[in-house]
This record gives sequence, C-alpha cells and structure tokens, in this order.
Amino acid sequence: MSNNTPIKLPTTLTCIVCPIGCTLQVSGEAGNLTVTGNTCPRGKKYAEQEVTCPMRTVTSTVRLQGSEEACLIPVKTAAPIPKDRIPECLTAIRKAVAKVPVSIGDTIVEDIANTGVALIATGNAPAPRKGERFRSHVLLGQGEFLVTSQYGERIHPITGEKSFHNGVDGALWADGSLVETGICASDDGVVIEAHELDDNPAGVYVAIDHGKSLVTKYFHLEPETLRVKKGDKVARAQLIGWMGTTGMSTGEHLHFQTEIDGKPVDPIPYLRENR
Ligand code: SF4
Ligand SMILES: [Zn+2]
Repeated sequence: MSNNTPIKLPTTLTCIVCPIGCTLQVSGEAGNLTVTGNTCPRGKKYAEQEVTCPMRTVTSTVRLQGSEEACLIPVKTAAPIPKDRIPECLTAIRKAVAKVPVSIGDTIVEDIANTGVALIATGNAPAPRKGERFRSHVLLGQGEFLVTSQYGERIHPITGEKSFHNGVDGALWADGSLVETGICASDDGVVIEAHELDDNPAGVYVAIDHGKSLVTKYFHLEPETLRVKKGDKVARAQLIGWMGTTGMSTGEHLHFQTEIDGKPVDPIPYLRENR
C-alpha cells in the first residue's frame, strides 16, 4: 500500500499525460472533485489520480550480463507505480541484473519493490555466439580475442562437473592461428597480486585494482614472464605477462576475470575496444 500524503485542495497541477501540459485547477474533496483547465477528459482523470494516489512510470537502465555491445539495458515499469515507491523501485533497479538474450517487453523483475508491477526491458540485447571473435587490442595486443568459454554456468573442462565459470576464457588469434602473446592491463591501475608460482588453480596470475571497486585478474600466465610485481602502477595496455597454460588449464589461453566489490561479474563488457 502507498503512504502518499494527500494533496491539499484547492490546488493547481500541470497535466503530464500529453505534451500540451494543461494547467489544471482542482478543488472540492476526494470523491467529489472539480477539475477545470483540462483540454480533454484524460486531464480530469489525471487530476483525480494525482490528488488521491499519484502514480508514475519509472524508466531507467539495468546492468546487462553477457553482451559484447552494451553493459546496460533500458527498462521501465510495465505500469505506473505509486510515486512514493519510486526510491525503493530505483534501489531494486540498481540491484537487478539482466542476462542476454533480452528482447523488448521481456520481464527483468517480476514484482519490482513489491509494487505488484513488473520491470520490463525496452531494448534488445542478443546473446553473443560462442566462438565469436571480437577485437580487443587493449587487452591482448593486436589481434582478435576468440572466446572459448563464456562467463556463467558450464561443464568444467577438467572435472566434467557443472560449475560456475567466474571469468571468460579465450586466446588471441591472428590470420587464423593462435598467437603467442603478451597480456596487457585492460586499464590503468595498481597491481595487487603478481603470483609467480604455478601452485594453484589460477596458475601464474596477476590482479589489478582499477579503483571504483573494479579489479581485473589474468590467470594461467606463462612462468617467469611476469613484467609486474605487487604494488606496481600500470597503465592501460601495458604488458603484464605472457599467455600460458599454468594452473587448472587444458591449453594455452587467458582466463580474464573482472570483480566489482570482490564479486565476479561478466567480463565481456570490459573486453570491448572502446569502452
Ligand atoms: S488535459 Fe488532455 S490535452 Fe491537456 S495535457 Fe492533459 S491529456 Fe493533454
Ligand atoms: Zn576460465
């Protein structure tokens, strides 16, 4: 239920139903209102709703997982919600995550902030195809990063069991063949881990703190190739080590992981060339 404070009458309102924006004079009392200034009946209906329980459609964006094109998807409430519930609705929207594929009209949250109203997508986001190539020279030097395993639920290539893949796996290809390549920092930051030993599932790895709670991790690097140490400042596209197959790995590749506030998130948006 809404706790909207009733508007004191008489009052003057601007009708927001259409761009004309008629100025409405509202007097009387609930159940017996007099509305003047409206050019059409919708203005009276709007005034009645506004003085009893003002409602608004909320439009915003939600974080998108799994897309190469965008990291946000536009959304709106499927119907107006009580105006005083907007702050709770926006809090819920900030926590919501949409996963590709998304089509216009898809439900992102069934009942947003207990309003009984769904949050729906107002944009499309197709799923990237496995094996699709895209340029990422900032991350990996010149060439194409071929994704071999996406972020999310998967059958682990070594254990054969269902598990959650916290990053994206891939390798650099050029002219149709695998390129032995240096791995570059995806953005400016400070090295918080530079692990040189192949004694753990991540193998030889580097972690970089980019500020704003964002950390990127680069697993399975080649031993004795690290070009950075803990505490080093690194610049975007600076070489940090060489792609390898250390740790739990079935072949030469990079496992690229992004974490926000210590929690892994889909790295694909961070692989985009011009983010
Ligand atoms: S009263 Fe009718 S014409 Fe005027 S702003 Fe509202 S909807 Fe538009
Ligand atoms: Zn991986």
